[in-house]
Order: sequence, then C-alpha cells, then structure tokens
Amino acid sequence: TMQAEIIAVGTEILLGQVVDTNSAFIAQELASAGIEVYYHSLVGDNADRLTAVLEQARSRSDLVVISGGLGPTKDDLTKQTVAQLLGVKLVEDAAAMTKIQAHFATTGRPLTPNNRLQALYLAGSQPLKNLTGMAVGAFYQDPHGADMMLLPGPPSELEPMFIHEALPALKHTYQRQEYLTSRVLRFFGIGESQLVTQLSDLIDQQTNPTIAPYAKRNEVTLRLTAQTTETASAETLLNQLTATIKERVGDYLYGYGDDNSLANVVVHQLIARHLTITGAESLTAGEFQSTIGSIPGVSAVFPGGFVTYANRAKHELLGIPQDIIETQGVVSEATAKEMAERSRQLLDTDLALSFTGAAGPDSLEGHPAGTVWLGLAQRGQAPQAKLMHFAGTRSDVRMRSVLSGLDWLRR
Ligand code: ATP
Ligand code: MG
Repeated sequence: TMQAEIIAVGTEILLGQVVDTNSAFIAQELASAGIEVYYHSLVGDNADRLTAVLEQARSRSDLVVISGGLGPTKDDLTKQTVAQLLGVKLVEDAAAMTKIQAHFATTGRPLTPNNRLQALYLAGSQPLKNLTGMAVGAFYQDPHGADMMLLPGPPSELEPMFIHEALPALKHTYQRQEYLTSRVLRFFGIGESQLVTQLSDLIDQQTNPTIAPYAKRNEVTLRLTAQTTETASAETLLNQLTATIKERVGDYLYGYGDDNSLANVVVHQLIARHLTITGAESLTAGEFQSTIGSIPGVSAVFPGGFVTYANRAKHELLGIPQDIIETQGVVSEATAKEMAERSRQLLDTDLALSFTGAAGPDSLEGHPAGTVWLGLAQRGQAPQAKLMHFAGTRSDVRMRSVLSGLDWLRR
C-alpha cells in the first residue's frame, strides 16, 4: 500500500500560536482514500531545516503532503525550497495569474511582484486550483523519490483544495483499477460517541465500504468509502449501508456532502416548499438571521426579521404586552410563543422562529445560563415552544440555540 507522510510548515505552528489542524484534516482524508500515513512532521519557516525534513521524507515515503508557505511573503518559502531540492524550476500558472490580476483590479490595489509568486508552481507538476484564495498548489509525481503535494496554509484554502483538486488527483494516480467512492452523512443532535455506539457492530465489521466518523463542533459526520472496480456498484454498496444507518439514526441525519450545513439544508427545503420565514431573536441577537442570510438564494424566503434583545424592544418592535414579560418572564414559553407569532404576523410569513434565554455566563430571572426557549409559529396553527438546556460558553449557547432552531425547522 501507499505510504504517505505529512509535513506542516510554519513558525507560528512550531511556537504553538496556531494549532496544526491541517495535518489532522489531511491525515483523515488520506486514510479514507486508502492511503496510509506513517509520519507527521512540523517545521518552521526555515529553508535549511525544511530541506532536511523534506530529504528524509522523500527517501522513506511514497507521498509527501506539505501544507503552508505558499503565500506571497518572505517567510513563505516552501515552493522555492522544494523546487531547489528536486532541481526543478518554478513556472507560472496562467489561470492563477489571471485570477490574481483580476483580484487586484477589482480591489483597486496595486499588483506587487511578490503577489505574482502565488501563481508559481513546480514545473512538471499538476497545478492545484485554489478555489478560495490566490496561491496555487501542486502535485508533483517524481520517479526518483516520493511524490510531493504542496498545499496552502490557511485551512479555508487547504480544505476545499484538498477535497476538490488534490483527492481526485491522488485517486486518479494511485487507484487506477479500483475506484474509491465516498459519501458523507451529516448528523446533528447526536454526539459522536452515541452515534458510534449505535453503529458499533457496523463499524467493527467494516471492510467495504469503510466507515469513518468525524466529530466537529456541534455536528458529527460519517464518511462512507466504497472500493470497487466500477462506480455503479459503489453506489449500490453505499446505498445499502446508508439505508442500514438510516434505520438506526436516521432521525439525526440532516444531509449529505462535504460542503453542506444544516442552514443550507433548511434554507433549500424552505425554498423548495415556497415557505417564507422570519425570526425574532433575543439571546442570539441576529445570529439566526445572519446564519440563514449566509446561504445564497435565501432572499426568496426571508424578508428580514427582528433583533429584540431588551424587553423594551420586544414590546416596542413586536408589541408584546409588558405584563406578559413581567408576569411570565422573558425566559418563558409565553414570551417565546409571542415573539414567534407576532414577528410572523408583522411580516406575514409562513413561519417564524424565536429565541429567548440565558446565554450566560450569568443566570437570568433565576434560570441558569444555557436555559433557552425556542418558539415556532406556523401560519394557521397555534405557536409552539420548546425548552432547551445547553452547556458551554456564551458563544456555544448562542450557536446551539441557532442550530437547534434550524433542526426544528428541518423536522
Ligand atoms: P498565506 O497566503 O496566507 O500566507 P501560506 O500558504 O503562505 O498562506 P502560511 O503563511 O504558512 O500559509 O500560513 C498562513 C496561515 O494559515 C497561518 O498564519 C495559520 O493561521 C494558517 N495555517 C498555516 N498552517 C496551518 C496548519 N498546519 N494548521 C492550521 N492552520 C494553519
Ligand atoms: Mg504565508
């Protein structure tokens, strides 16, 4: 089998100022592509030490994946160092150069020579497009030593480049007869350990497809990977396993795919069903609206909404009677329902979600931090409310409130 190793480059990582998430990401992705990782290394922005690490890696592995140091500044020397070690030139990628020029033209900033460096890649390699930034990556196949893959440092650039550019290149190069087909299942409302427990027999027996669980903040994903000689039979295997998983934990499965989010799934459901929505937010102070606002196309279903943080805003913007807030409390079922229904009526939407609670760190009206009422109003129905208890920091509580609201809409 293929033996790979990963090198993270960057003095800020060496000093512990930035945590090396890239290596973890790459390691998981390589594993799910059937490529075994034998070593991780970490080296600062220093040409000599990077060369030493590269030489060792090159002599003992089949593939070396390097992240960081593709940018335009003086400390970004990965490309130059690798080029020198391999004895190859750096050449300009025309498409990347066009993109850089266009970027500088639209921002009105002058294009300095160092920015041109970002369009350079190793001669003879396959350039890897940067979908979210400027610096181009490279996949260099070397008959004399390990193949080298160069990726940018920022995770927001590296992750999409890896998924959409690097993985297909790796699969194409190393799995000519066998196709690896992956499917990502995304879950909300269930912890990784609970998910793994419910599926433990499947995970223990896994051979083909393989099952790789991955816990992120507030969600868990499963990557199913089938290895077959033709892609059609992979789909069949993946469909069978997905069906079995759905029987057990289908309630928590909200969507599929690498670049998907609960907000994305919910907004597309609303668009498909022609259902409009608004929000009235207290503790989340607009985070729900901001989250759905980040999904392209949401304007078809979202006219706007309300941030009613203080009681005065709840009264003056939404018209909630003072005595409801005073007698029932602001963290209450009654207030949540009033917020939802009144905001829905004000903007004449089909749905409205409301959020009121104690974000923390202090308690509110005697309710401990993390106590949250969610309200849901639907045209033609009595409003509903749901009491939630979230653990974590203020920002965790606010984020979980938003996600739980979205999850409620999905169901
Ligand atoms: P840039 O064009 O932004 O300079 P680059 O490819 O040159 O990108 P670096 O300069 O090495 O990359 O890193 C830029 C930033 O990306 C770092 O400051 C850090 O925030 C993040 N970063 C780099 N390497 C890693 C890593 N291994 N794990 C997580 N974050 C990283
Ligand atoms: Mg840099």
